[in-house]
Amino acid sequence: PNKLVEVKNLKKHFAVGRGKVLKAVNDISFDVYEGETLGLVGESGCGKSTTGRTIIRLYEATEGEVFFNGENVHKISGKKIKDFNRKMQMIFQDPYASLNPRMKVEDIIAEGMDIHGIYKGEKRRERVFELLETVGLNKEHATRFPHEFSGGQRQRIGIARALAVDPEFIIADEPISALDVSIQAQVVNLLKELQKEHGLTYLFIAHDLSMVKHISDRIGVMYLGAMMELADSEDLYAEPLHPYTKALLSSIPLPDPDIEESRERIILSGDVPSPISPPSGCPFRTRCPEAMETCAVKNPEWLEARPNHFVACHLYDPNLHKE
Ligand code: SF4
Ligand code: MG
Repeated sequence: PNKLVEVKNLKKHFAVGRGKVLKAVNDISFDVYEGETLGLVGESGCGKSTTGRTIIRLYEATEGEVFFNGENVHKISGKKIKDFNRKMQMIFQDPYASLNPRMKVEDIIAEGMDIHGIYKGEKRRERVFELLETVGLNKEHATRFPHEFSGGQRQRIGIARALAVDPEFIIADEPISALDVSIQAQVVNLLKELQKEHGLTYLFIAHDLSMVKHISDRIGVMYLGAMMELADSEDLYAEPLHPYTKALLSSIPLPDPDIEESRERIILSGDVPSPISPPSGCPFRTRCPEAMETCAVKNPEWLEARPNHFVACHLYDPNLHKE
């Protein structure tokens, strides 16, 4: 399949005063294939949102590159910028904060259309009605304000806004985390339907592995600004390799009570270290149940341990002997 997005050795560091640097994203590489959903998972502060925001150019990259359809997004200039901004859209976590409370729903949805000069005049209103239907709302909603809607409905408005400009790639940054559990599946199903209908590609950001399973073709697991593991969803759930992924998976409740009772739960000790002073060697080593001496000295390489299953962990490095 075609690579729509290529992220190469991307770093995003922030100066935080007194010469200190917060390494929010610290050298990650991955591709997003056309038409797929790549889930990006990790605890808050692991750099997943920053990764999304750097890809979409809300942030400049500190180092490394992002390519969209083969073009370096941080070097796009002139007329192409507008086109690029249209093709990549974002859906935000907080459906309360991300919609302007003073704007009518129709103007929120049409904002991007207006900016890009598409669907003007009579077509604008028709398009808004159509989008409202598409996301499970209706045209009566067009003249209302965001506060008149529930969280789930607001997220549908946010989705309609993203769709309005015919994007190719959507970064959904924890789009369901702020919603009731009962609503989460509905929004995920809507996103899946829209993907099929419009041939969309998604980067779906989430803080745990429970919901991403239902939407992701592949999943990347981040920790402290680095990518720990990346694999097809099924492989990742069936045979996680990285000790961090194993711990994350063991904390998801399972529907089958027999398995639920008998399985081993991995409780990680300690807290996530500060991205201002990450540990030497493997970023996960201060919490890893399987840490070895090498782990404090050497940052593990990104290895293809199985076909299409990547991991950054010395346990899978054929050149290193366990001590
Ligand atoms: Fe644990 Fe070492 Fe693997 Fe890091 S490299 S995850 S510390 S075993
Ligand atoms: Mg975030």
